[in-house]
Amino acid sequence: MAAVSSINPAHVPVEISRANQHDVRIRWQDGHVGVYPARYLRLRCACAECVHEFTGEALLKPSAVPVDVHPARIEAVGRYAVQIRWSDGHSTGIYSFDRLRLICPCETCLPTAGA
Ligand SMILES: [Zn+2]
Ligand SMILES: [Zn+2]
Repeated sequence: MAAVSSINPAHVPVEISRANQHDVRIRWQDGHVGVYPARYLRLRCACAECVHEFTGEALLKPSAVPVDVHPARIEAVGRYAVQIRWSDGHSTGIYSFDRLRLICPCETCLPTAGA
C-alpha cells in the first residue's frame, strides 16, 4: 500500500468518553471500540515536554506520573486530534486520531500497539 498522507476515515472517532474515572473509551467510525487506561495514554504523550523534539528521547519519567492520573478534560483539536488535560496538570499533549488508533491496547490491536 502507498503511504497515506490523509486521515483514514475508519480512524475517526465517533465518540470519546470516559469509561470510568481512569479509562478513556473511544468508539471509532468502523465500529471498533478501544478502552485506554488513562495512565497508558498519559505515558504516551508525545509533546515537546515529554519527548525531545529532535532526538525522540523520552523526557517524561514514568515515576513522575501519578498512578491515579486521569483526564480532567478532553477537547477536540480540529478534526484530526484531541487534546487531553490531565489531572497532574499536564495539558500540552495532543493525540492525533491516527496515533490513538495505532496505540489502541485492545486484544485485536495489541500486536501493533506502540509500534
Ligand atoms: Zn506531554
Ligand atoms: Zn483496538
